Amino acid sequence: MPATDLSAIVKAYDIRGVVPDQLDADLARRAGSAFVDVLRAEVDGDETPVPTAVVIGHDMRPSSAPLAEALAAGITGRGMDVVAIGLCSTDELYFASGRLDLPGAMFTASHNPARYNGIKFCRAGARPVGQESGLSDIRATLESGVEAPKAARPGTVSTRDVLDDYALHLRSLVDLAGIRPLKVVVDAGNGMGGLTVPHVLGGLPLDVVPLFFDLDGNFPNHEANPIDPKNLVDLQAAVLEHGADLGLALDGDADRCFVVDERGQLVSPSTLTALIAVRELARHPGAPVIHNLITSRGVPEIIREHGGTPVRTRVGHSFIKATMAERNAVFGGEHSGHFYFRDFWFADSGLLAALHTLSALGHSDGTLSELLVEFARYSASGEINTEVADPAAVLRGVEEHYRDIAGLTLDHLDGLTVGTDSWWFNLRPSNTEPLLRLNAEAGDPRSTDRLVAEVQALMTGAVTTGAVEAGAAATGGVDPDLLAILRCPVTRSPLTVVVDDQGSTWLYNESGLRYPVTDGIPVLLPDAGVPVPA
Ligand SMILES: [Zn+2]
Repeated sequence: MPATDLSAIVKAYDIRGVVPDQLDADLARRAGSAFVDVLRAEVDGDETPVPTAVVIGHDMRPSSAPLAEALAAGITGRGMDVVAIGLCSTDELYFASGRLDLPGAMFTASHNPARYNGIKFCRAGARPVGQESGLSDIRATLESGVEAPKAARPGTVSTRDVLDDYALHLRSLVDLAGIRPLKVVVDAGNGMGGLTVPHVLGGLPLDVVPLFFDLDGNFPNHEANPIDPKNLVDLQAAVLEHGADLGLALDGDADRCFVVDERGQLVSPSTLTALIAVRELARHPGAPVIHNLITSRGVPEIIREHGGTPVRTRVGHSFIKATMAERNAVFGGEHSGHFYFRDFWFADSGLLAALHTLSALGHSDGTLSELLVEFARYSASGEINTEVADPAAVLRGVEEHYRDIAGLTLDHLDGLTVGTDSWWFNLRPSNTEPLLRLNAEAGDPRSTDRLVAEVQALMTGAVTTGAVEAGAAATGGVDPDLLAILRCPVTRSPLTVVVDDQGSTWLYNESGLRYPVTDGIPVLLPDAGVPVPA
């Protein structure tokens, strides 16, 4: 076998590629063998004994079962046993790895289209395997083309069904006793949620309306990728049509969960992070809670207000899981819809996050949108990806612009983060593509839009005027509580503060009129309104 370059398919946390061009049974078998080497290698300071078996699971893609079998053959060929749990969600595989205290391998390409497949590895106790913790060694072995000799005595394959134990475990972690009856639409997107959701939600006082529960790795209805708004349309419509209390959308391997409220509106994962953090802090007072640097600033604020210790991390599975373990954090959330729990081996489970949401709503009298008002404080842009030829140079240019502006904080935890008390943005490069990912947040949608426009203009080299300085003075001296109740005297629409290039503060209505603010006092008289300059 000639040496090959696998940089295209060995990602930061998993292997992922097109079947069979980039990933076929032979590669899967050799990956199994290479994983055994990683498990047998001495790890500095790690007293863990060499495991006797690997637990393997797979999703519903047509290629998954045969590829999982090939992986198993690679493992048993080296003399290690395999426990096959068959069709499962990724968090169910983590459960098996944690409960059986065995390393694991999951065949799935998560939300990617049908022609893709991939492998996620973990060590015993669902501990992550990323580039620095074994994946680069697996890649090196595969690229070398050198195959280790087969063991004199091959390992065995046994099968085991852990679905009910997994469901019981999730249910034991959330207080669902006495919740009121709720109507829930669940969109499984033809992914693994179709198998796991009936077991996890079964027996609760829930009227579940299932959408796309048939396991079908060809995804005949929509992509199983709820982070893309177009894949939420069916769920949103069904929630309204059925008058449901909420909707849940799972990705292909059912480890991520997104929630829509009774109005069919997406609940920001940051808002869910804050809600679940408060619930976990009630059980574990003062505990650390992890959030990545893209989650809303409201998350650390709310964690602190409830006596917890917020811990900010880079984006990404391995960083979150490692920091969770290091700090013994009770919970962690990411803007991407991953929710990690100490009681779940620090691994992530979207359905566990969903159970928390159901419990919170089921023990309250109001609607989900009412319940969540206190957890959603700012206006976020969402992740905006821009292709650029030279990400590092663009990032430097943006940084240069902000470096000398007084009153800003800059940090490099992950890409570049710039902020003040009233707004922030983060611009970070993709690991694999010539992309910059922009996330921004400010006090209101208009300020956020302005901030995004300014950073985008800087990225393309266009000249900008004081939008950020305007953002820095987001309330222009107007009391935010006052601003929240003020209305345009003519149209009754809400008002937004804008500070112009001359440093004058104005209140804009929603139809092109603005009112002056003098010494922090809004002049809201019908004849004080003037048209907004073009
Ligand atoms: Zn997933």
